[in-house]
Amino acid sequence: MNCSNCGGVLIQGKSSYSTSEDEFTFILEDIPAYQCERCKKVLFTDETVSKIQKLVRRIKKESCEIVHNKVSANLYDY
Ligand SMILES: [Zn+2]
Repeated sequence: MNCSNCGGVLIQGKSSYSTSEDEFTFILEDIPAYQCERCKKVLFTDETVSKIQKLVRRIKKESCEIVHNKVSANLYDY
């Protein structure tokens, strides 16, 4: 596997991922990743990317429920 940017050698290591949405900021650290030796570009595998996206979608949905106070009615029963 070589860097898509400059063709340099990719070294396996760890990196972090962060994204900012209206309701939250999501930061995930120590994710297995590859970094280009030459241009320092960080690449994640397709598998890692799809797992992160799935997680972000879930957090987005649930944080939206909290922010807009759409929490389950059961919580107010007691
Ligand atoms: Zn590169």
